[in-house]
Amino acid sequence: MRHQKSSMSYVKQKNILLTRNFTVLLVICCMAIKLTLCFSNFPSLLKTVHIQGHFSFDGNEFAATDFGNQFHFLPWAVLHPKKVSDIATTIRHVWQMGPTSGLTVAARGHGHSIQGQSQAPQGIVINMESLRGQEVMQVHKGKFPYVDVSAGELWINILNECLKHGLAPKSWTDYLHLTVGGTLSNAGISGQAFRHGPQISNVRQLEVVTGKGEVVVCSEEKNADLFYGVLGGLGQFGVITRARISLEPAPKRVKWIRILYSDFSTFARDQEHLISSDNTFDYIEGLVIVNKTGLINNWRSSFNPQDPEQASQFVSDGRTLFCLELTKNFNPDEANKIDKEIKTLLSELRYIPSTLFVTEVSYVEFLDRVHAAELKLKPKGLWDLPHPWLNLLVPRSKIHSFARVSDNVGEMDTNEKVKKLSIQ
Ligand SMILES: Cc1cc2nc3c(=O)[nH]c(=O)nc-3n(C[C@H](O)[C@H](O)[C@H](O)COP(=O)(O)OP(=O)(O)OC[C@H]3O[C@@H](n4cnc5c(N)ncnc54)[C@H](O)[C@@H]3O)c2cc1C
Repeated sequence: MRHQKSSMSYVKQKNILLTRNFTVLLVICCMAIKLTLCFSNFPSLLKTVHIQGHFSFDGNEFAATDFGNQFHFLPWAVLHPKKVSDIATTIRHVWQMGPTSGLTVAARGHGHSIQGQSQAPQGIVINMESLRGQEVMQVHKGKFPYVDVSAGELWINILNECLKHGLAPKSWTDYLHLTVGGTLSNAGISGQAFRHGPQISNVRQLEVVTGKGEVVVCSEEKNADLFYGVLGGLGQFGVITRARISLEPAPKRVKWIRILYSDFSTFARDQEHLISSDNTFDYIEGLVIVNKTGLINNWRSSFNPQDPEQASQFVSDGRTLFCLELTKNFNPDEANKIDKEIKTLLSELRYIPSTLFVTEVSYVEFLDRVHAAELKLKPKGLWDLPHPWLNLLVPRSKIHSFARVSDNVGEMDTNEKVKKLSIQ
């Protein structure tokens, strides 16, 4: 949906042309006047669009921000839809204006992506969160339970609603203050993906507004091309307006475990062993931790070391360590059984014995763990720093060479870094 050149390259090209000949300068001036006229006409053009929500033309700075905090493109207007039909009508209108309008449209969920993904330079941003609350979440119990939600809904709200019925979605992201439309436009990967696949593999049906402004319901069986295009489609194949998400019975409690390795091969072997075992943990994620001062001391505030004395002698400074983060879900009446299962599973692993840390939290506390960090970082201004961020899916065959490169990067830079490395 977005096909505008960056403003930087536009300015650069314009400068070269200006020095070349006067005729081209004239053409550019005419184009600029045309563009200005065109943009100043947009508000009146949108007046003919009948919607139940509204457009805002001022105070739209929020729509020019994202979690990356590196790109800031102000949109020309923000649509605050009240109904799905508001989105359809607007997109249909832009479609009918034709490509010469140069108007771009971007859906914005919670704006927690990076690199201006949810921004529309001089275009229209659709504020998906304003649909939230207008459309009720509907939990369906039964053999194959599911929930129907608005795409502007936050995953944390979906979790809380589903828990009222003893149910929860199966696959998560590490952070839940993101919208359904936002994560389904990416993938939604966390430590449950080895079992359930990413979030996009746990969707039964979508309602989508296409680039022509049609409202289409799609699934594996119906309009499958659109379904698979939109899932993981970065908002380029349509706007997701509703989603049907698969659910499972929700556990009440979680045993949350961290163990460390100093050797990558042992770490990778153990992680692969766990994800390919039948009876295994419910969440498995690997982290690479580089030169982290007092790592284990920091863990002590919320985790209990299995061997406090040995743990207190463990030195993390200046080292590259590999952490396996694991959980086992359970209900209070299964506590003893779960402890035994964990013991058996851990006995098959070759981590550094003094680095076994365990804690027990509620299911919500575990899933919402990054928000707890957000609440601490926000007042210090650390949450809103720029976030250059690179996510890579590395094939299993290349993971050892990737680890070697990543280790060298760590040695060159003495800053504390944490990299997520999951074999899934
Ligand atoms: C702290 C933090 C932790 C994270 N952890 C994980 C993680 O563990 N796993 C993981 O997979 N991801 C993770 N992410 C990344 C996150 O899943 C994506 O950035 C996601 O897109 C953010 O959701 P959002 O609602 O903020 O989307 P936005 O930033 O608003 O939008 C992201 C993209 O999706 C498009 N889009 C938004 N809504 C719709 C819609 N309804 N229909 C069509 N397109 C739409 C936008 O146009 C844009 O291209 C994390 C992000 C943060 C900030």
